[in-house]
Amino acid sequence: MKKLITKITIFLILSTSYALTYATSINVVAAENFYGELAKEIGGKKVNVTNILANPNVDPHLFTTSPKLNKTINNAQVIIYNGVGYDPWMTQLIKSSNLKTAQIINVGELTLINDGANPHIWYNPGTMEILAKKLATIFSKIDPASANLFKQNLKTFLDNQQVVNDTISAMKKKYKGTKVTATEPVYGYMAEALGLNMLGMDVQWKIMNDTEPSPKMFADYLELINNHKVKVIFYNSQTAENKSKQILTVAKKNKIPIVGVTETMPKNTTIKQWFLSSLKATDKALAKANQ
Ligand SMILES: [Zn+2]
Repeated sequence: MKKLITKITIFLILSTSYALTYATSINVVAAENFYGELAKEIGGKKVNVTNILANPNVDPHLFTTSPKLNKTINNAQVIIYNGVGYDPWMTQLIKSSNLKTAQIINVGELTLINDGANPHIWYNPGTMEILAKKLATIFSKIDPASANLFKQNLKTFLDNQQVVNDTISAMKKKYKGTKVTATEPVYGYMAEALGLNMLGMDVQWKIMNDTEPSPKMFADYLELINNHKVKVIFYNSQTAENKSKQILTVAKKNKIPIVGVTETMPKNTTIKQWFLSSLKATDKALAKANQ
């Protein structure tokens, strides 16, 4: 019995010291994993990040919350969510939580994007930069002793983003005005930054919202492909939606290059790598189409 009590005491001491160490890192909850990744890139070891949407094989527009998430939210010191109608369940989770002092960041509000606009705002090149600066400020207030680290990490991140921005500028020079379309408006902001002329928006929004485009609308859309009015098609590889598949079949038949993009960030990558890989795929497809 004595042995058991000793064991319990040791266990208690260990868990208390664990709790103390744990408390030194800032608890961040991100509704989407790319914002969580950004928090990690800025906060380094001083943050403990939990991502809610993290699986690039699940359609984020169809996500619903579970009771387990209430606990996750209650432990958060910093919460990041997209807003712009992308993750309305977050507002509910926050409302029903016991949060008192958490810093809550709605990225849409932070970047002045109104509800009703294209919600895939993380592909807007400036979004991550604005959020990165905001996170460095918030983390420094919570943990002033690590302010220098956050400042350095912010600089590294912004230098990395400069590489992305330079790639975008170079591509824009080559491809400005090129007509393209997409199965969904997931890459819309990036296409705009590249100066591409995005057609067939009406069908893209219907597919995103999981609603049927009218037959006329869809026929007009397919015309763009069958008549080779578009050079490239961006495909949301994260949905297994029927109309998207149909569009891909027609695109393949017409030998129009397809660029697959994801909404959720794949595992084991950085924001810079993720952005550069979709830009590289876009560059390759546009170059092929312009041959
Ligand atoms: Zn989407």
